[in-house]
Amino acid sequence: MTQVQREVMPPTISPETAHFWEAARNGKLALRYCRSCKQHHYYPRSICPLCFSDETEWRDSPGRGVIHSFSVMRKAPVPYAIAYIELAEGTMMLSNVINCDLDALAIGQRVRLQFLPFDGGALPVFEPDDAK
Ligand SMILES: [Zn+2]
Repeated sequence: MTQVQREVMPPTISPETAHFWEAARNGKLALRYCRSCKQHHYYPRSICPLCFSDETEWRDSPGRGVIHSFSVMRKAPVPYAIAYIELAEGTMMLSNVINCDLDALAIGQRVRLQFLPFDGGALPVFEPDDAK
């Protein structure tokens, strides 16, 4: 499917998120995992937002999930979709869905990791996962 992709702005990178952006630049999704409550969280934080433990570490994610909810920005110069993705790890990630028919998106639709490049890096986004 040929589509015009909108340009994304480079993010503000902090020491807490540097690894996340470095991983994304290398085509990986890095999530923060808490060894205390045994749950992933997003966005990345050193202190677990679920139990306030500092026993957190980076874990690579295969980047599979389903659309929890979404909204299509039809009036933007290049229409696009934002969505809350419920990852297989159980955490929720606000992102974009690309390479898709904006009229065919659905809650519960399976999606997989993809990347939108920006100057100096890449933004983790998702696309429909049609694989069985
Ligand atoms: Zn925790």
